[in-house]
Amino acid sequence: MNSKDEKLKAIRDEIIACQNCPLFAYRKENNFYPVIGEGNHKAEIMFIGEAPGLQEAKTARPFCGKAGKVLDELLNYIKIKRKDVYITNILKDRPPQNRDPLSKEVETCVPFLEKQIEIIKPKVIVALGRHAMNFLMKRFGLENKIEPISQSHGKVFEAEHFKIVALYHPATVTYNPSMKEILKKDFEILKDLCQKT
Ligand code: URA
Repeated sequence: MNSKDEKLKAIRDEIIACQNCPLFAYRKENNFYPVIGEGNHKAEIMFIGEAPGLQEAKTARPFCGKAGKVLDELLNYIKIKRKDVYITNILKDRPPQNRDPLSKEVETCVPFLEKQIEIIKPKVIVALGRHAMNFLMKRFGLENKIEPISQSHGKVFEAEHFKIVALYHPATVTYNPSMKEILKKDFEILKDLCQKT
């Protein structure tokens, strides 16, 4: 195992054992899994969503439900293989009824995401949806550039060690199919960016 694999495995073990957050009890009561993240440990692109949904919590795999199907379709569209990117979320556990993450939950869980970013060292971080965008922009010194997602989707922001691209969350397509065309256009920007980096 190379050292990235070892470090990511250590984080996985920490997440599984972590009982600091109220969502741990909810996970156990429902026989859910934490959703740690999956993909290439040397990925140049890292996709970050908000939190696992029901399907994800049942299977331990990020973006494997309806939103995941949309994400897969968009990746196919730009001919990037899912196995070549890394996909994770801000929260590793599913909040009840898919409600928005609470600040205490984000605070407790986010050190895991920060370590994942530090180890994988992506060139491009894709924020899926406004929660991920707001969090990442604040965390990486771009707070003054935050706009509503309707303004910032498809834009590329320069953080210290990587670029951040804000996109609509793929789940938007599941309740508004016309959003797919907008996401496709934004994914083309992502493709161009990857060819340049
Ligand atoms: N929505 C997210 O934000 N993440 C997932 O893993 C699935 C749906």
